[in-house]
Amino acid sequence: MELWYTEEHTPTVRFSIKVESQLVNVRSQFQHICVFESEEFGRFLTLDGLMMLTERDEFIYHEMIVHVPMAVNPSARRVLIIGGGDGGTVRELVRYQGIERIDMVDIDEMVVNICREHLPSTSCQLGDHRVHLHFEDGLRFVRGFENAYDLIIVDSTDPFGPGEGLFTREFYGNCFKALSPDGILVNQHENPYYESYSHAMTRAHRRIREIFPIHRVYQAHIPTYPSGHWLFGFASKRRDPLSDLDSTAWSNLKLTTRYYNLNLHTGAFMLPNYVLELLEDAK
Ligand code: SAM
Repeated sequence: MELWYTEEHTPTVRFSIKVESQLVNVRSQFQHICVFESEEFGRFLTLDGLMMLTERDEFIYHEMIVHVPMAVNPSARRVLIIGGGDGGTVRELVRYQGIERIDMVDIDEMVVNICREHLPSTSCQLGDHRVHLHFEDGLRFVRGFENAYDLIIVDSTDPFGPGEGLFTREFYGNCFKALSPDGILVNQHENPYYESYSHAMTRAHRRIREIFPIHRVYQAHIPTYPSGHWLFGFASKRRDPLSDLDSTAWSNLKLTTRYYNLNLHTGAFMLPNYVLELLEDAK
């Protein structure tokens, strides 16, 4: 008998992966957590029936969520990750020797434990001495900090369920306060193609642009996310992602990457017209 994982991308569109076996199928206090083994994508993690990452294409998401802001401020020292329980974002960040401290705040300890056991390729650096894990709601954690972080990465689930609060004005306002004057906020910004997602994207973008003077959007191709076209938000107090790109400092780090490079950095901010129109609507 064949086993298939199927995800509804819209009520009339489904995406399926042939599965060899199911390794995890549990409900935590917050969400339904599954890990599957597949031939095409290796192991993959889903939360509440939505794809979080696969072993084969996660490098695209994690490189783009980390190296884009780090190439704009390669001297960032204090980093906060909200979500990110699989550890992929931490894995990319610890490659920067200049980073002194990484606080990772995931609401669900069970996701982290499961990833440590079943997804070592992403969770492998969670034990780095600079990484401090906190198991609580990111919305609550970020309240009350001032000038505490140079970079905040919101590596969250979608804006429903436990991730909902991470797309609110209150959250973005507290991130603004928690950031240093040179601080950067990067968040996963959903996909622009399907209406239910693009709606969430324009709403998030509208809220961010009300708070941050610099607010840009960049893109990547991620095969296993709905429509394969994924956006990230880049917001900051004064660093522009293109004119402040520090190509020399980033090249000198000599990091090997499989997706990110400095030409792609600039290209990723060049958006298709229909996406520009959606962002214009966010005004
Ligand atoms: N790359 C993924 C994506 O965009 O599909 C995100 C993966 S990561 C596993 C998402 C993490 O966000 C999960 O581990 C989840 O527990 C965490 N999360 C969801 N809501 C949260 C909240 N309010 N505070 C902190 N972490 C949260």
